[in-house]
Amino acid sequence: MQNFSALNRNENLVKASSEHFDVLIIGGGITGAGIALDAASRGLKVLLLEKNDFSSGTSSKSTKLIHGGLRYLKQLEFGLVHSVGRERAVIHKLAKQIVKPVDMLLPIYKNGSLGKYSTALALRIYDFLAGVKKEDRFKMFNLSETKKMEPFLNTNGLIGSALYKEYQTDDARLTIEVLKTAATFDALSLNYALCENFIYDKKNTVKIIGVEFRDTIQNKMYSATATKIINAAGPWVDEIRLKDPAPDKKSLHLTKGVHVVIDKNKFPIQHAIYFDVPGDNRMIFAIPRGNMVYVGTTDTNYFGNKDLIDVTSEDVSYLIDAINAVFSGVQISQQDILSSWAGLRPLIHEEGKSPSELSRKDEIFIADSGLVSIAGGKLTGYRKMAEKVVNKIVKVIEKTNQKSYSKCRTASIQLHGSAIEIPIEEYIQRRAGEASQINFTLEDVFYLVNTYGSDTEKIIEIGYANFNKLENKTESLVRAELQYSVEYEMTNNISDFAIRRTGRLYFDKRQLENNYKKMHDIISTILNESSSQKNDNLLFFEEVLRRSAAFENVN
Ligand code: FAD
Repeated sequence: MQNFSALNRNENLVKASSEHFDVLIIGGGITGAGIALDAASRGLKVLLLEKNDFSSGTSSKSTKLIHGGLRYLKQLEFGLVHSVGRERAVIHKLAKQIVKPVDMLLPIYKNGSLGKYSTALALRIYDFLAGVKKEDRFKMFNLSETKKMEPFLNTNGLIGSALYKEYQTDDARLTIEVLKTAATFDALSLNYALCENFIYDKKNTVKIIGVEFRDTIQNKMYSATATKIINAAGPWVDEIRLKDPAPDKKSLHLTKGVHVVIDKNKFPIQHAIYFDVPGDNRMIFAIPRGNMVYVGTTDTNYFGNKDLIDVTSEDVSYLIDAINAVFSGVQISQQDILSSWAGLRPLIHEEGKSPSELSRKDEIFIADSGLVSIAGGKLTGYRKMAEKVVNKIVKVIEKTNQKSYSKCRTASIQLHGSAIEIPIEEYIQRRAGEASQINFTLEDVFYLVNTYGSDTEKIIEIGYANFNKLENKTESLVRAELQYSVEYEMTNNISDFAIRRTGRLYFDKRQLENNYKKMHDIISTILNESSSQKNDNLLFFEEVLRRSAAFENVN
């Protein structure tokens, strides 16, 4: 995949600025990625520009669930639950390696937000709206069964529980797999490409025909043109809209959501759990992943710097207090928080509504300049959102190009890495057998398959090509993985790799702290970076590492 390699950056920049595109997408989160795949797979010529790294905005900072949104039932958003609920199964089918079913436990308390009967009713409606298969439908459990399932739950007022199906993913990896799949249909995506200004038509001066963008790695300006420009900039949608002198009338309402990561030994839960925050009319998730459990989220209005979102000690206390109240025998303090992330929900403003009441529905706004902006929505709805956007623009492009394009096909396009035809355990065993000669252990291959799916085969191939040349054979895995990441996933620095390609910053931080300098060295060598660039990237990452467990005191 030549067009998705960081090694081909210069050629890709020249291509982006010398060819005309049908669609130019601003923003490389899940929304932009979904649009790129939808448009490119219909035959449109696509360019996507992302100012930082792909998914560095909200799309690496979600709760990482492909979910129907049980809580939206409370807000009577039946249409939303119906569409995103059904979409879960579609996305699971397209990317089984990274979208996995998970049992979600809902403890029921005497004075909780839902009683036993209302929980059963809500889940029946939820399963019905989401079209859940019979074997996956919710189950109810009595008190003693619940105590056995989760011995650390506070039993004071506990009546029982319900178990229902959701899907767990890695948001940043989902985004990158969608983009890699778009690249197989010739979509050209560039990270570190900041759109700064619009270019207007010389004759029809209100019409946007392109953008001026900055390659922020080499600090060089370029311009790119396209028939349709789409603003999929998430929390920055308003910033882009307001560069246009005649923007549409809508505006965004940003709310901040924080998650914290705790060692599973400190917070030993067996299931993903969705529970009430005592004293607040909200619910939060605690979700095991590997040796960690992550807990979130908060939901508060946000007016600060969108590029540097603080996790405050107040955010952390809110989550910790909820854990300590609902799980007796578990005593979490701020020192137990190993890592954290904070993201912004790009919601559509509705007068007088609180953060939790704002709709999560997506909306498309079209300005007189032709700029199409999309916001609101959820990770789960990315494919349907993309379909809606591309349906809106394809007619204009057909008219311009005097050519017709196919209808949306993404419900049947398997995502990159999903080519695993046999049971996953068997697949891991087979690949581990092949890779044992290059020092990959079974555990290594388990990690690779759960991260890269069938692209593990490419990493093993790289491992074989390098093995004899390696001075230190114990570096076989890390070198192959990093080379793959740079050459096939457009990794430009240690932050891209450790935060978004692998989630190590959150879920394997202790190992990362021991290894990041070596990894950074390897990436820099592959990319042939100057020493100042290398140094800047290291300093930047070390600050991110520090901030992931340093919480600002707001008072
Ligand atoms: P983003 O991911 O923010 O992408 C926009 C991109 O545009 C950014 O990468 C940014 O760098 C880029 N950009 C901005 N300006 C420019 C410019 N000038 N030039 C070039 N690029 C630019 N949804 C679910 O379905 N399940 C969940 O479990 C879930 N949990 C959530 C939890 C939290 C705390 C939050 C905040 C959201 C959650 N969501 C969830 C919602 C979901 O994460 C978002 O709807 C989704 O990630 C938004 O994606 P996006 O692509 O629109 O925005």
